[in-house]
Amino acid sequence: MDLMREKIRTIPDYPKPGIQFRDVTTLMGDARAFRVSIDQLVQPWAGAKIDGVAGIEARGFILGGAVAHQLSIGFIPVRKRGKLPHTTLIEEYELEYGSDAVEIHIDAVREGDRILVVDDLIATGGTAEAAVKLLRRAGAEVLGAAFIVSLPDLGGQRRIEALGVPTQSLVDYDGE
Ligand code: AMP
Repeated sequence: MDLMREKIRTIPDYPKPGIQFRDVTTLMGDARAFRVSIDQLVQPWAGAKIDGVAGIEARGFILGGAVAHQLSIGFIPVRKRGKLPHTTLIEEYELEYGSDAVEIHIDAVREGDRILVVDDLIATGGTAEAAVKLLRRAGAEVLGAAFIVSLPDLGGQRRIEALGVPTQSLVDYDGE
């Protein structure tokens, strides 16, 4: 969508040469673009039976919190390794160099809970895939995964849909 594309700032060569960093802090700082983004993330789910929104650290917390509030449901933080204070479930995933891991509290969802995953951006889909696997291990049903930005060349949405999870993105950057 044009308003969102206009408000997302692109930082070339961050955090390393060759990466075009799509910075959504400028979108979140604009009242109208933020409001419209949250409305569009929520819209497919209005009236659906959902038990919670799982947001991925850190920008997924901001967006997922707003989505959960608008749907009047609870929020589940999917955090990077070592940040959550109670007993956790952990899921590792591969990075270009090495690996990383995401965690949820062991009691963050109940068996059969219907959950929507939210993050700012999907690139390779490794992070979102780990979040889906983690939520499923905890007994949840993942209804969908919603992002402001997708980078289709990196195949993340296909990867999540191959897990049987429908995805939604508001702005796609193809080969840019
Ligand atoms: P991935 O696991 O490859 O789908 O990467 C997704 C995560 O990395 C998200 O939490 C994004 O915030 C971040 N990320 C990856 N690539 C970019 C990019 N080009 N611009 C901004 N954030 C990115």
